[in-house]
Amino acid sequence: MKIRVRIPPSPTGEPHIGTAYVALFNYAFAKKESGVFILRIEDTDRSRLVADSEKKIIESLKWLGLVWDEGPYRQSERLPLYKKAAEELIESKNAYYCNCTPERLSKLREELQKKKEMPRYDKKCFYSPPKKGPFVVRLRVPEKGDTSFEDIIRGKIVFKNKDIDDAVILKSDGWPTYHLASVVDDADMRISHVIRAEEWLSSTPKHVLIYEGLGKKLPLFAHLPLLRNPDRSKISKRKNPISLLWYKNQGFLPQAMLNYLALMGWSHPEGKEIFDLNDFIEHFDLKRIDPTGPVFDIVKLEWMNGEYIRKMSNDELAKRLTDFTHVKSKNIANVLPLIKERIKKLSEFDELTGYFFKDVIEIEKEIIVQKGKSVNETKKVLVEISEVLNEIDWNKTTIETSIKEYQANIGWSNTDLFQTIRATTTGKRSAPPLFDTLEMLGKKKTASRIKKAVSLLS
Ligand code: GLU
Repeated sequence: MKIRVRIPPSPTGEPHIGTAYVALFNYAFAKKESGVFILRIEDTDRSRLVADSEKKIIESLKWLGLVWDEGPYRQSERLPLYKKAAEELIESKNAYYCNCTPERLSKLREELQKKKEMPRYDKKCFYSPPKKGPFVVRLRVPEKGDTSFEDIIRGKIVFKNKDIDDAVILKSDGWPTYHLASVVDDADMRISHVIRAEEWLSSTPKHVLIYEGLGKKLPLFAHLPLLRNPDRSKISKRKNPISLLWYKNQGFLPQAMLNYLALMGWSHPEGKEIFDLNDFIEHFDLKRIDPTGPVFDIVKLEWMNGEYIRKMSNDELAKRLTDFTHVKSKNIANVLPLIKERIKKLSEFDELTGYFFKDVIEIEKEIIVQKGKSVNETKKVLVEISEVLNEIDWNKTTIETSIKEYQANIGWSNTDLFQTIRATTTGKRSAPPLFDTLEMLGKKKTASRIKKAVSLLS
């Protein structure tokens, strides 16, 4: 069997992290099995369409390197296919026309809700076919029996037909709904494996009935677990950024994103946490996916991104950073060695290095004066340090020697003295190693910042 899989995003908003996740697993499966990975834009829900969404989805998938072999197909360009399929289903009595009014349908829904039953169409128009339009077309679900399918990850799934709704498959304006369009396309595009998110599991029995009604062979199904927020609720905007472009703009690296997403419900057989896409593809197996919802933890992703940043050459990293800062390339390259160990996202560059480049920085008394030291004492130390530093040739070693010598004389601890100087010269509680920082900052800037702190303490 030729392996053909698809990613079918709906262009209804920002490109979603879940789309990247499902795309990655489909992509890996296709590559592993020498199959075909297809991009299909599911744009039939015209009321939810968002301009630019398709463009952003495409941009995000390309950014991640999840590039398709076929497509993008667009459902809006394939309407005659769905209409023909709806007619076939009506012909074979697997679908029927319905002209129930929105008022009747909402009354029906209310009644069922009162009885605590699932909202479902009552098949009125199946039993007494309507004469006058406008008509929608509904799927005809048998009253009795079961509909079942095999899920590669979850095993056999059985739904009672009485629990499946006679869903609308073609609207009165001729546009199909998701169920019909999805099945017609999956059949037409000879999709061998439908690998999608768990949230579509309850739609699958309807799809199975449509496949059968059209006399088409079923694909194999695999429903991936839903990504969850750290509190285990379904991943949502409120608790996690969900837009792929947000991750791109924050300076997450595509390789780190893919690596982290690969760990959602899947684990490397050798227990590795850090592995590249080729490694993932080589070991990928749908059967190894754990259906329990994996937690998408941005703190862990940031850690992993930092690991990937450190694996990059300084040249490559400096090049990528030019998209995240106005600092000149030469200066980026100079400070890079100082922050490479600590940076987690490329967008942190300015925050981590701003004090090197600014003429004047904000400083706060509270972080300059250490616990147990008085303001006067601190001021005196700063005045003396500036005299010491004024005397030396400016390099890391002389800075270190002179500061340490001075420290031994005054009997302050390393931590207290270094923190005082660090806060004075960078405005921060934490910064790269102090002597490297001062060397990079230069004699003049160091002196003027100490002077500013002294006057702040006066
Ligand atoms: N258009 C659906 C989505 O936005 C596709 C679901 C499926 O894979 O069948 O996710």
